[in-house]
Order: sequence, then structure tokens, then C-alpha cells
Amino acid sequence: PSSSTTTQLFETIVELDGEGGGEVSSSGEESGDEPDDQRGKISFELPTPEVIFRDMEGSHWNSFQAAQTSFSFDGTKFTRRAQVQRVHLRKKPFMQGGMRLAYGMVLDPVASEPDQAHWMCGKRLFQDVLHQDGGFQAHSAFCRSTAVAHYFAKRFRTQVGKANGGRLEFGFVPCNLYSPVSKGEEGYHFCGEKWLKGHFVKLNSNAGFVNETEFGEHSDIAQAFSHYTFDRSKGELMVVDLQGICGERARSQGEGNELYFLLTDPQVHSSGTFERFGPGDLADQGIRAFFQHHRCNEWCRLLDLKKEHDLCDPTNVVKMPGVAQCIQWMRSEDSRAFFRDLRKSCRASSIVVPREVYADWQDIKVWATDKGGKQAEKLLQARLDKFYATARYTEHAPSTCAWTVERWEQQLQAWRTESGAPIVAWPP
Ligand SMILES: [Zn+2]
Repeated sequence: PSSSTTTQLFETIVELDGEGGGEVSSSGEESGDEPDDQRGKISFELPTPEVIFRDMEGSHWNSFQAAQTSFSFDGTKFTRRAQVQRVHLRKKPFMQGGMRLAYGMVLDPVASEPDQAHWMCGKRLFQDVLHQDGGFQAHSAFCRSTAVAHYFAKRFRTQVGKANGGRLEFGFVPCNLYSPVSKGEEGYHFCGEKWLKGHFVKLNSNAGFVNETEFGEHSDIAQAFSHYTFDRSKGELMVVDLQGICGERARSQGEGNELYFLLTDPQVHSSGTFERFGPGDLADQGIRAFFQHHRCNEWCRLLDLKKEHDLCDPTNVVKMPGVAQCIQWMRSEDSRAFFRDLRKSCRASSIVVPREVYADWQDIKVWATDKGGKQAEKLLQARLDKFYATARYTEHAPSTCAWTVERWEQQLQAWRTESGAPIVAWPP
């Protein structure tokens, strides 16, 4: 039943994030923080829409004029459009998340008993997390995230739908910002969107969690969508926290089934020039966390999505000598287990080891979060030292030597020819 699904909405999110086990913890809504004392005093109503929306005449509603701001995104910039709306908002919330309270909401014109199509949900941040502007920036971050998700979803739908015989419905519930202007109601903001009914499912989180246990086909498409947004924004944006109502419905006879997604509350991780998307925007750390758990699937391949290491610079680099034996050692069967463990223990999302000799000193590139990257550097160096211990002979150049670089190059070349051994100079 829809009412019990709604009750579970935020609880489910908290549990699932815990299971994600990502190194970066979500500072967003689903952080699962214990509400403080002030929050504990809030009184709630039951999350039963049939009761909430039964009687518009009652004393349970606040009605006021509000500026409704809608955000759209065109791939590079945002546009805002505002209009005045009469809003009816329940006095008591029916639910709370880590950072927000959710209220029943209806827009004018309204019937005395509005039907489901007019049911809405108002989401307002706790006062104690707001800054000077009454929460305008913080609330608009949710709307901006949704606008970005909407922009990419439209393109994703077309491209995936084409390959899938047009069988994909993939969208986000529009999210607008409301700023009351009636006397006595000014000075605060909240977000409003259509009330979602149905089985609520979380497909990924902003901290790297990937749902692998339910809604398999939906989850694959959702993970590919997050990857897609990163690829198409050239590594500047990534839409995650994909959650909402998912399912499958029969098309007209003989045309098979169609998957549908109606998602809400997406979060954007931004890297580069965009203004941050609120506290849930974990930037590069969030992007690393996604790739650490993401394995490209058929949809990623179909869309020809570029890998993380093609789209952004490595977070850490370890120098290795451009010596064939050393490359062989690092790419040997023996080293395979080492790299598997390294990826895991350092939570590295990608590690790239050179395949062939192209310079005296070459880069082993690592993509990892701050702490993991440092640890990976140490372990890679230790792995190289193991090779050096058996294969390297070091000769120190006298510090008084006045040879030029050219002279050294000449001499090294002569020694290489004479000895048949690879010789590289340090420092690079
Ligand atoms: Zn992928």
C-alpha cells in the first residue's frame, strides 16, 4: 500500500547508504544524522495522503502567496523563471529526512478534495542548517540538481530508447523553489514537487552505493545514466542519488514491456567551474566513489561512454623506469593479485600501468580519494622497490661533475650500447 511505502521512504535511504560502505560519507540529506533536541520537538501527522488531502477547508492548512521559481539548464548555464502562486501547505510535516521536513502541499486553484494529480510534497530544510539568506541558495541547489538531471535525462532517453526500440521512460519529477511573499510568511523558502506514489527504490547514492540486489535491469540503466552525465559533461558534472518509482508496464499488444523511471531528489557532484550543488555535492571525492563501485555494463558500452581515466587527470602518480623488465614485473600474473588488493584496500577507482617503454621515466596513474591515493602511492613504491632489490644497480654521479645534460645523454647512450643493460638517470 502506498501509505506504508511513503512511511519507509527516508528510513530505507538511511539503511541503504549504510550498506554502501563508501569511504566518503554523505553530508547530504541521507546522512542519517540523529536529529538534535530542537528537531526532536517537531510534531508530525501521519503520512497518509488520503487523510492529508481529504479536507482543504480544515484548520490544518497554511495558505499564502509565494514566488514560484523554476530552474532550467541548457548544458552550460541555468535560467530561472518566477511567477506568483497561491500555495496551501500543511502545518505539520508528515516525515523527516536527515536535513529536511516533508509537508503535504497543493497549488491553487484547488478543489475542496483535490484528486491525486494535484497532490504535492513540500520539502523544507531544518532552520539550523540554513545560512543568512533564509535558505535560498540551499533550497535552489536541489532545484538546480533536478534541472541538470532533467537536461541529461532527455538526451539519455532518446539515445537509449533508440537502441531499445523506444522502450524507455526515464524522467525526473520537476522541482520548484517556493518563497512565500504574504505578510507574516516571508523570509523562508522550500521546494515543492509532485507527490510520488508507488514502490520507492534507491538505485545509487551520492557516496558510491550501487543497488545490486533489486531492480537489476533498472539499476543497470541508472548506473549507466550517472556515467553518461559524467561523460557528456566532459567530466564536470555527475548526477547520482537516483531514486524514485520504477517499474515495467505492458505496451500495446505484441510490443513487449516498457521500463519506466520516475525519479526524485537527484544530487549532482560538480568538478570544475560550476557553483556547488549544496552539501550533498561531494565533488571529485563523490565522482571517485562512484567509479570505485561502478562496473560498466551493456548500456555504458552501447553509449560508448569514456572511462574515468580518459576524462580526468589522475589523482596520484608514481614514477617507474621505462625498462621492459620492470613493466613485465608490474604487469605479471604475480602482480595481478597485488593490484586487485590495491584497488580494494585503497578504494582506487582506476589504476593505469604503462604497457610499453616510451620514456626513461613513466607514470603509473591512480584515481582514488585523498587518503586512498596516498596509501596507493606507498604500496606501489614498495612494489617497485621489490623489483629494484633484485634487478637494479645504482651508481651515484659525483656531485662535482660539470657535464651538461647533452653530455650525460651521450655518455648514457654509450654505456647502454656497451653493457646491453637499460640505464636511466635519476631524477627524471
Ligand atoms: Zn559505465
